[in-house]
Amino acid sequence: MIPSSFDYVVPSTLDEAIAVLGEHDGEAKILSGGQSLIPMLKLRLAAPTVLVDINRIPGLDYIEERDGALHIGALARERDLEHSAVVRAKYSILYDTACVIADPLVRNTATVCGNVAHGDPGNDHPATMIALGASFVARGPNATRSIPAREFFQGLFTTVLAPDEIVTEIVVPAPPARSGGAYLKLERKVGDFATAAVAVQITLDAQNRCARAGIALTNVGSIPIAATAAESFLIDKPLDDGTIAQAAQLAADAADPFEDRRGTADYKRDVVRVLTARALRIAAARARGDVATTAGRA
Ligand SMILES: Cc1cc2nc3c(=O)[nH]c(=O)nc-3n(C[C@H](O)[C@H](O)[C@H](O)COP(=O)(O)OP(=O)(O)OC[C@H]3O[C@@H](n4cnc5c(N)ncnc54)[C@H](O)[C@@H]3O)c2cc1C
Repeated sequence: MIPSSFDYVVPSTLDEAIAVLGEHDGEAKILSGGQSLIPMLKLRLAAPTVLVDINRIPGLDYIEERDGALHIGALARERDLEHSAVVRAKYSILYDTACVIADPLVRNTATVCGNVAHGDPGNDHPATMIALGASFVARGPNATRSIPAREFFQGLFTTVLAPDEIVTEIVVPAPPARSGGAYLKLERKVGDFATAAVAVQITLDAQNRCARAGIALTNVGSIPIAATAAESFLIDKPLDDGTIAQAAQLAADAADPFEDRRGTADYKRDVVRVLTARALRIAAARARGDVATTAGRA
């Protein structure tokens, strides 16, 4: 199909982009990678009157560690995460996630910030950002605010962002020593959205008990789901088989999937259980220093 007509604006600064968004009262949309927005325009699932293309704004394509956190700028692409040395060395869950998003052509263009801003429960980064305790920096006409990933998603394709706010960067706290994470995704075929996927990020204490746990689920509800009961259950426990099995069941209980061509609700809940157990084992191995483990596609 052919999109409905729209104006196309190419600002050279963030302030200019925010001003254009503000002038159009929710009718303007940011265009970053275009890998979700352009298909939606073509299918007429979205019909903004103005596209605000932020790709020419300089200085937004960074991935850098500073002040105890990883900063991912609005124009950092999925492929930049895949190729970032610091991501591979210290944020293995982010690397796992970037590698299972769509295919290399999509990843060359799609931005990490666009992936979260889109509010699609099938997207892979939201759960990972929740597990990591990340925040999204949103800049509007009058202020800049930091929104915890856990508070960002409100409903299907709906976030707390105001129509004239731009996610300018994602901030991921640097994991303390003895931390590890894993993202595991079951998909029908390579390039598909998840049947279900699980993000796990943990920190172990000196006795190998769980000191912190972040667990979040992809595509088993209308928003990415933080498995809070499973997270709390793990605190101060050793990650033995019994504990892992109980946490995995609590994560499955938190899922709220609906039946579609990827499977029944019961099937997807069980996929969450199995993937959570596997991701916890991989995360624990990585936290103990076994970097040879692989995650990503289940
Ligand atoms: C064939 C195909 C397969 C895919 N498979 C997967 C997959 O398996 N997993 C997955 O996670 N994703 C998948 N995607 C989606 C892809 O990762 C998207 O690109 C991503 O979700 C959106 O990023 P983008 O930069 O392309 O955003 P765009 O398409 O440019 O924008 C998406 C939405 O977010 C808004 N937006 C974009 N950037 C910002 C910003 N900085 N601040 C505020 N709002 C913003 C836009 O206005 C728009 O509403 C797939 C896409 C395709 C085409």
